[in-house]
Amino acid sequence: PRRIAYEVHSGHVNVGGRIPVGLKPKSLRVLVTGGSGFVGSHLVDRLIARGDSVIVVDNFFTGRKENILHHLKNPRFELIRHDVVEPIMLEVDQIYHLACPASPVHYKYNPVKTIISFLNRDHKTNVVGTMNMLGLAKRINARFLLTSTSEVYGDPLQHPQVETYWGNVNPIGVRSCYDEGKRVAETLTMDYHRGLNVEVRIARIFNTYGPRMCLDDGRVVSNFVAQALRKEPMTVYGDGKQTRSFQYVSDLVEGLMRLMEGEHVGPFNLGNPGEFTMLELAKVVQDTIDSNAKIEFRPNTEDDPHMRKPDISRAKELLGWQPVVPLQEGLPMMVSDFRQRIISNPKEGGS
Ligand code: NAD
Ligand code: UDP
Repeated sequence: PRRIAYEVHSGHVNVGGRIPVGLKPKSLRVLVTGGSGFVGSHLVDRLIARGDSVIVVDNFFTGRKENILHHLKNPRFELIRHDVVEPIMLEVDQIYHLACPASPVHYKYNPVKTIISFLNRDHKTNVVGTMNMLGLAKRINARFLLTSTSEVYGDPLQHPQVETYWGNVNPIGVRSCYDEGKRVAETLTMDYHRGLNVEVRIARIFNTYGPRMCLDDGRVVSNFVAQALRKEPMTVYGDGKQTRSFQYVSDLVEGLMRLMEGEHVGPFNLGNPGEFTMLELAKVVQDTIDSNAKIEFRPNTEDDPHMRKPDISRAKELLGWQPVVPLQEGLPMMVSDFRQRIISNPKEGGS
């Protein structure tokens, strides 16, 4: 029989069936793979603040120690440099699996050999890394949360995207390493759930921005903000009429934690339905940083999705979640972090 997922005792959460009812653990033990990255480090902040014990497993491929520096002396925090492509044995109650090279710049702009090695890495992390973490979850009876992506919808033919839409992905395109990698990760997650009874959760994350993003990861919000701060032109790809929906990172973290604690497997779209063209985004950046910031048009990349906007009805209804930070409020918080980093270390992420 399926075990009861969680029992809540005075704000703490017990994994049903493993910890005897009445024995309230002081805190949960949580593993965050990719915890020194952008989203992971914000999640770690929230878990530590809640009183949990947190283990971060990260190979520092794109993560930075600075993101989690403030926890290093905390006895409830542990950092392990490890590649999830290799198995690892740890005792935890929950696993948030974020480890993945998430930035498009690596597979879009690097020379061919590098692209190939990054492509392989993407597949390996998504397939082998996810399998390792699911295997760990099964062995130690932990709940597993996969951070999938809106990219599983590819260049969507349905708008906005609902979780029941199967997507429109080019299997042999330049983005497919990421899109198909995450689709396989979702499949593995569901197979471990159905076949091996592992408790799983799947989040499909839409474009997210905020402090601690890599300055040079090539994503549009980080590019425009860094460019405007450095008085360089903002690079708009194509005609700039393609759309994305931008979510502030604290909203995402709230959604991930509600998903992990809730009763529903998902998948759940976690994103902000506020939809912007890239030209509109550039305008918001101008309004926030520098009204004289210039725009430079560049050829667009292959298979760039034309539009993207989450339908979040499912998350609203079943998780009681919706984003609360609009772009005009979230952007200034990211800008002050970027400004500080660019001033204190002009070379960080510079070309
Ligand atoms: P990020 O690059 O900042 O973080 C990823 C982290 O994973 C980094 O710390 C990196 O060093 C680590 N990592 C990569 N490969 C690893 C490996 N093999 N072993 C151990 N650690 C490894 O990216 P992010 O934006 O924080 O993304 C976190 C997760 O959310 C990813 O799974 C990503 O696919 C997903 N996601 C993010 C967005 C977004 O807009 N930020 C959108 C959709 C999905
Ligand atoms: N983009 C852009 N200028 C940039 C970087 C990206 O116009 O400097 C565009 C890109 O073509 C895409 C959108 O912004 O249409 C979002 O790109 P990003 O890489 O941030 O995320 P994803 O394509 O994965 O949604």
